[in-house]
Amino acid sequence: MGAKTLCIFCEAELGPDTKPEHIMLNALGGRRTTKRVICSKHNNDFGGGIDNALAKQIEVLRNLLQLESGTGKLPPALKNLQAGSERINIRNDGRPELVKPPFTVTDLPDGKFNVEFLARSSEDIKKMLPHLAARLRMTEEEVIKQITQNGQAAIVEMQPDTVHHHISLGCEEALRSMAKSCLVLLATVTGNGAVKAAPFAAARNYVLNGSPEFNKERTQIDSRDVPSVDDLRNRFGPFFNLIYIRSDDAGRVIGHFTIYNAISWQIVLAEAGGPPNGVAAIVSNPLEPATWEDVASSLPDIPFGWLDAADRVYEIERARERLVAMVKHHVDNARKTETARICDDVFAKHGVTDDDQPIADPNAQQTIVGEIARRLAAHALGLRHEQKLSPEETEAMLRCKKK
Ligand SMILES: [Zn+2]
Repeated sequence: MGAKTLCIFCEAELGPDTKPEHIMLNALGGRRTTKRVICSKHNNDFGGGIDNALAKQIEVLRNLLQLESGTGKLPPALKNLQAGSERINIRNDGRPELVKPPFTVTDLPDGKFNVEFLARSSEDIKKMLPHLAARLRMTEEEVIKQITQNGQAAIVEMQPDTVHHHISLGCEEALRSMAKSCLVLLATVTGNGAVKAAPFAAARNYVLNGSPEFNKERTQIDSRDVPSVDDLRNRFGPFFNLIYIRSDDAGRVIGHFTIYNAISWQIVLAEAGGPPNGVAAIVSNPLEPATWEDVASSLPDIPFGWLDAADRVYEIERARERLVAMVKHHVDNARKTETARICDDVFAKHGVTDDDQPIADPNAQQTIVGEIARRLAAHALGLRHEQKLSPEETEAMLRCKKK
């Protein structure tokens, strides 16, 4: 065995029990991990600190675009957003739900009561039923009977009002996480010793402790298109994440970090004296995390001169174009999902569960097509769609049975 492997941020020795560190953040769809660069303690500290800060900043985009993590976790849900006069959550599958008590019971003077409840699905009702029964001091069976026999149930669909998302990227903590990813990636190529050496002391300190001076002098937002952006898009999708590091003859080391092919940062990892003429890169495809690359030579070459000359002018127009493209993708996707859901719903209601099974009865065809058309139209226009349920349908729904 050769020399001991030490954490690039401290003197802890790394071994087989060291916690694996994602080089590109898991939240950004990063898959490659290493146990040979940072110790478990620093891994934990960053995870709960700077990495979390970056992950928080991309939550909205991940939810809008339905981007899974590198380990295949669904995007985070967005909680308690203002949508017109209502508050909504956007679930991790991208669907909105009203934030309201699941049911309200109003006691009427004649000893009767009025129950209103809100549910997205039969599963929701199933979860709610025991609580409702407890509130009414009845068994669940009695509640179902009461509602079926005396109640009037309806399915109401409505679209939430516009939600204004505030997206901000690149606070100091998030940039420290990017700088850390750069140093970790670099160490996988140069070995840890080079990154522990003096030329990277300021960058390491920035990652560990933060530094307003470093933040101001050595990090820079960059809104230029990455060279060969079309190649990268073709291979890694429209929202690729890229870390690209390069050094010149004098060992000036520049890190470049692109998030979702929308916005980039330049980080001067070493001003001079780093390993000369080196290159390291990693790309992730957050739409398809299984597709990634970390061999710089098999990626389009990005010249040092380009990396070193980050655009000092933030070109708002270009960044806006990219964000508009992202949102358009989201809207297209959401429309597809909602359309599919409405169709499935109508088919299920009419007992059609098998996609391949043709609907023989022309009347049934008519009914189904008509209903789908009405509901899609209501949805497209943002109208409420209300559908009263028969007692049988109500009972089936309360018992969480597919009719
Ligand atoms: Zn450490």
